[in-house]
Amino acid sequence: MATPPGVSERDFTRALTEFRNAIGADWVFTSDEDINLYRDAYSPFKGEAEDRVPSAAVAPNSTEQVQAIVRIANAHRIPLWTISTGRNLGYGGSAPAYSGSVIVDLKRMNRVIEVNDKTHFAVVEPGVSYFDLYRYIQERGLKVWIDPADPGWGSPVGNALERGGGRTPMRDHWNAVCGLEVVLANGEVLRTGMGAMANSEVWHQYKYGFGPLVDGLFSQSNFGIVTRMGLWLMPSPEAYRDGRVNVAQHDDLVPFMETYAYLMNSDILRGTMLLESPLLNYHVTQGGSFFEMPNGPSTAELDRLARERNLPYWSAEFRFWGPPKIIDAQWEYVKEKFGVIAGSTFADGRRYVLPAEFDQNDPTLEVALGIPSLGVFGLLQGGGHLGFSPIIPMTGDAIFRAQRAFGRLYAELALPAANQFAALPWSYNPRALVLLFGLPMSRDKEQNRQSREVFERLVEVSAQNGWAEYRTHIAFMDKVAEMYTFNDHAMRRFHELLKDAVDPNGILSPGKSGIWPRRLRSNRG
Ligand SMILES: Cc1cc2nc3c(=O)[nH]c(=O)nc-3n(C[C@H](O)[C@H](O)[C@H](O)COP(=O)(O)OP(=O)(O)OC[C@H]3O[C@@H](n4cnc5c(N)ncnc54)[C@H](O)[C@@H]3O)c2cc1C
Repeated sequence: MATPPGVSERDFTRALTEFRNAIGADWVFTSDEDINLYRDAYSPFKGEAEDRVPSAAVAPNSTEQVQAIVRIANAHRIPLWTISTGRNLGYGGSAPAYSGSVIVDLKRMNRVIEVNDKTHFAVVEPGVSYFDLYRYIQERGLKVWIDPADPGWGSPVGNALERGGGRTPMRDHWNAVCGLEVVLANGEVLRTGMGAMANSEVWHQYKYGFGPLVDGLFSQSNFGIVTRMGLWLMPSPEAYRDGRVNVAQHDDLVPFMETYAYLMNSDILRGTMLLESPLLNYHVTQGGSFFEMPNGPSTAELDRLARERNLPYWSAEFRFWGPPKIIDAQWEYVKEKFGVIAGSTFADGRRYVLPAEFDQNDPTLEVALGIPSLGVFGLLQGGGHLGFSPIIPMTGDAIFRAQRAFGRLYAELALPAANQFAALPWSYNPRALVLLFGLPMSRDKEQNRQSREVFERLVEVSAQNGWAEYRTHIAFMDKVAEMYTFNDHAMRRFHELLKDAVDPNGILSPGKSGIWPRRLRSNRG
């Protein structure tokens, strides 16, 4: 039997017996067969000693059972790692940052506590998936939409805690959180915001409560186990439409992004945009690169290619939700604003007054209509990936600088930079862009080694430019935390101060977000 590092077999056996007594023997998993299910399917260390492996898993069914697990773990110094649905693929799946941790798998806590379609919020437990919540709403005919992440098998709780994103106006998932229930490391239950009042009527309508806001302390963190979450939902819109804006030349991206930011920050454009490049897509098919490479064609040459091929350099689809006359007016206004850019062109897209039959061939549309799906996996070319996701400013200039910086790096490493999944930004959050790279992961150790090396360099090049990842894989949490350098890592030191105060025995998710408890701090990579 694998035991957590530093825990004797006798103590671990005792702890497992206590876990069984607390939650039932059926819900304590120790066999290799069961434990292997909690490994990272996309691991960058597949088949290598550094692959993160838990020692056991426990699946409690209630907040009280979570409290009992935490108390037992405290008594025996057992490290725990919490997952909601454990689908964190690209960032570690259900595996722990610290090998030997016991997984606290919250899949059985899958109750939808409430969905309110008058003031538009839901209250869910961590094991509720997007599919579960959607089904609950549909079965009751409630007039609200959820905002799923692309893979609908994840959980609103796990995804929001990771500050993930979707495609509708409610796309910034952490921003939609209102009110948490948390089991602290000492086993006590805390309710945040207005939930701190025993009989609060507005726990899930008003975020702030009274005094310092603490909700953020439980996001991407190891300060507590979230057992319940309030989430704001979107009232079911009457209609949906989309349309495409193209601009012709490389430098048009600067006014394009300025217009985009204006429309976005004015609430005229909502939802997630993915910037695309028909020209660079074509260029890649000709053996070219998606980045600006030092030895690649000049901007003038690419502009000429765009003209010759009659391909827009930049393109984006915009989506609209709301009453038909309002979204029609929004699209008209969007065209008017982008129309100022010489050579811009527009294509009206799909328009549905809801409910309606819709285009089933586009899995991204399904998600934009608030319907959970697994269609995204059909868009990928097999294999796993390691997610690299730096945040950059919402400007054309920043996109150019990112293209050049990552292009130089790929040239230096003599790597082909043909993957458009890597190069262009999304607008998951207000006011900033995120680049989503998917570095290939497989059973091939050499390919994984190379992807790890590229990943580390990408993190460093980003930091040199003032950009950092918003979220990262369990194997690189120390590396990414290291980039947040202001005042000799004042933020990391503050996190550690809090960690040692609220979890003195260091049992909750050691290593999460680069935060190690005092007794395990020497593990920092
Ligand atoms: C092809 C593909 C597409 C993807 N598309 C998207 C996308 O569109 N948007 C997006 O955001 N992500 C995306 N992802 C990443 C990932 O799949 C999702 O974010 C997924 O929702 C995360 O898994 P989960 O919801 O099961 O969270 P979990 O794996 O359960 O949790 C994630 C982490 O949060 C912490 N945590 C979870 N629950 C708790 C709790 N109750 N208390 C304390 N801490 C907790 C833990 O550290 C855990 O490791 C994609 C991945 C792939 C492979």
